[in-house]
Amino acid sequence: MYGKIKEHLQKEISEIREAGLYKDERIITSPQDAEITISTGEKVLNFCANNYLGLSNHPELVKAARDALDTHGFGMSSVRFICGTQDIHKALEKKISEFFGTEDTILYAACFDANGGIFEPLLTAEDAIISDSLNHASIIDGVRLCKAQRYRYKNADMQDLEEQLKQAREQRFRIIVTDGVFSMDGNVAPVDKMVELAEKYDAMVMVDECHSAGVVGKTGRGVTELFDIRGKVDLITGTLGKAFGGAIGGFTTGKKEIIEMLRQRSRPYLFSNSLPPVVVGAGIRMFDMMSETTELQDRLHENTAFFIREMREAGFDIKPTESAICAVMLYDAKLSQDFATKLLEQGIYVIGFYYPVVPKGEARIRVQLSAAHSRAHLEKALQAFKKVGRELDVIR
Ligand SMILES: *Cc1c(COP(=O)(O)O)cnc(C)c1O
Repeated sequence: MYGKIKEHLQKEISEIREAGLYKDERIITSPQDAEITISTGEKVLNFCANNYLGLSNHPELVKAARDALDTHGFGMSSVRFICGTQDIHKALEKKISEFFGTEDTILYAACFDANGGIFEPLLTAEDAIISDSLNHASIIDGVRLCKAQRYRYKNADMQDLEEQLKQAREQRFRIIVTDGVFSMDGNVAPVDKMVELAEKYDAMVMVDECHSAGVVGKTGRGVTELFDIRGKVDLITGTLGKAFGGAIGGFTTGKKEIIEMLRQRSRPYLFSNSLPPVVVGAGIRMFDMMSETTELQDRLHENTAFFIREMREAGFDIKPTESAICAVMLYDAKLSQDFATKLLEQGIYVIGFYYPVVPKGEARIRVQLSAAHSRAHLEKALQAFKKVGRELDVIR
């Protein structure tokens, strides 16, 4: 009977509201870009998208998507292994392998699926997964779906990682798993050190590059470029939904036997639909653009360095970051909400994060920089931050 659960849900939802944790969605009526239109008709500058390279509405990708629609149609109505693999799916997998310098690649509907389907086909109760405490929800879910023994180490803490590796010594296989960039602070995982420890304790390394691919490293090839350790990370997962165009799609790339096994056994791959041709066609064009020029990465790196320098100079407390994420620390939850509301009045769209998304007493505004931001956009955001910062006594 629906009546009973209905009441139960209404009660839980009102508890979520009372706790101030209810998530409302702001409606956007324009394409995703540096400047967007919201449902009130106002134009605002967007500083909270994962649109790091400004590709979400890039004319080249829109054109490539249209072309693919004409040549390869709209949908596949099939999983990959029945009748859902087109030439372009294979071509995109190859482009991704070339980009990361890996052996082979498998596409998924999203990185959530790539992470959800990676552990269970490879590891059993005899094995060990050693996971960073701040890893993404999709990694946590993937680990849950697998019978391997679980070990957790403190965020980016290599001493603790070594301790966990020692504890996992008796297991058959060991895999260390980390996000490349942690999305709330913007710090990069010390993957160079992890690779050293992996060699010492005979473990594999897997890095989720969702927030680092396209962003980190001189040409945007992620943490393996940043630390100059190409070929030393066994598995990389990533998304086409952030820097790489922002539509949808995920992938796992790495050692070829692993990718081959995932094609045989990974459940989100076997039992979920093939990526639509528009997304695949645009993805191919996107990786071609990445190999033609580093203009977008250069602009993103310049924008990020400029914004962070100016914010620190203005007196804001910015978390150490090596990515395009700039966490403006306010510590107090209510202050973070008031700050974000006032910024929107100034035409700057950002979100204030607080517990449980970040630890208690560590509320913040997360700013995400983009290659799509012009210097004028950045100046406008800085002016707004300074004005609101003074009004709310955050800076002098
Ligand atoms: C966004 C994100 C995901 C999920 O990616 P989707 O392709 O949107 O499913 C997975 N891992 C990390 C670290 C992410 O930031």
